[in-house]
Amino acid sequence: MFMHNKRLMYTVRVSEPNPTLASLFLEQFGGPQGELAAAMRYFTQAISEDDAGRKDMLLDIATEELSHLEIIGSMIVMLTKGVKGRLAEGAKDGELLAEITKGGESHTLSLLYGGGAALVNSAGAPWTAAYVDTIGEPTCDLRSNIAAEARAKIIYERLINVTDDASVKEALGFLMTREIAHQKAFEKALYAIEPNFPPGKLPGQKDFVSKYFNLSQGDGGDVEGPWNSGPLWERIDDRERQAAVDGGDGSASVKVSAAEKRILQRVAERTHSRTDIDPPTGAELGAKAGDVDKAR
Ligand code: MN
Ligand code: MN
Repeated sequence: MFMHNKRLMYTVRVSEPNPTLASLFLEQFGGPQGELAAAMRYFTQAISEDDAGRKDMLLDIATEELSHLEIIGSMIVMLTKGVKGRLAEGAKDGELLAEITKGGESHTLSLLYGGGAALVNSAGAPWTAAYVDTIGEPTCDLRSNIAAEARAKIIYERLINVTDDASVKEALGFLMTREIAHQKAFEKALYAIEPNFPPGKLPGQKDFVSKYFNLSQGDGGDVEGPWNSGPLWERIDDRERQAAVDGGDGSASVKVSAAEKRILQRVAERTHSRTDIDPPTGAELGAKAGDVDKAR
């Protein structure tokens, strides 16, 4: 069950309304790296998790993300407070239009949602469950969670950089910091599974699991690094050894029934391209008689 505490997880102090900033903050309310996406990601993992430790952690963090959603949502509402009042009261104010249309999606936010926090990203695109990539295998989900926390941290960092309001910066700093803390927890939870690599149960094929195919060659040079050389790697530069690596002929084939074969043959015959003819087509027919150059 969920219970609600009316005190926010972090105090929201906004020094003055700023609808443009509010529309940017929507990115963390209804965007792909936002708090709702994070909460739903961990919640869906938690309810199907059988491991007591992971289940507990995922429920703790999912619930914290909802608390972050509440914080960022409250900031959005505070930042649009003044505009909301003026819109509602029909204040004849020439500056109002300029203020709500000066950037981002602030006019959408102000007009359509009445200065509330809508579940859209900063460009107005509705939140979607497609942001949640839970797959139900902890070594995959934890890696995805680590990456999601890293992305969320960066979005907060960017939002901090576009804010002048010191107390808003501070609250954003808290939200950013918690994503670092979550990343740490998920990293530990991943390494609490031994072994955790490769993900899942099946090992990779011995012939291919340590090969690095140097497929992009040319100007700019090939850079050597620990990702393609050293004890983990056999680097394949030879173009001949990059195709049909299984030792076959590199073609694609399938066995079909005799009846299917006959049908496929009829299709092939009907659509066979002739190389022995050069029939005139629209381009030539449409050009002035004899003026073939026009069609070229
Ligand atoms: Mn969060
Ligand atoms: Mn987080």
